[in-house]
Amino acid sequence: MSAEPTPLGVMPGGFSELWSRGNLLFVVPALREEYPEPLIESIACRRALLLGGQCDCGAECPPSALDPAQGNVAVVLHAADCPAEHAERLLAEWVSSGEGREQ
Ligand SMILES: [Zn+2]
Repeated sequence: MSAEPTPLGVMPGGFSELWSRGNLLFVVPALREEYPEPLIESIACRRALLLGGQCDCGAECPPSALDPAQGNVAVVLHAADCPAEHAERLLAEWVSSGEGREQ
């Protein structure tokens, strides 16, 4: 199976993207230029891990970890000080702040 991730498109709403790797489909959070810097950093770490197989913090996610046929539940732990750990909180804060809404 090819380990090269291929972008398929942006999901409705624009917050996530659909990618394939080999015969797998998976969704990763989109990077949006209007996001504040900490959120961009955090999401970049998530994407590096899912699309590139590893994060700067040392977390790794080989293609087999995403394959349901392997029977694995993909649990990936970033380091405690990795920005990726804050993605959900930062995104929720950004959404509730209203900055993402059209003027
Ligand atoms: Zn990380």
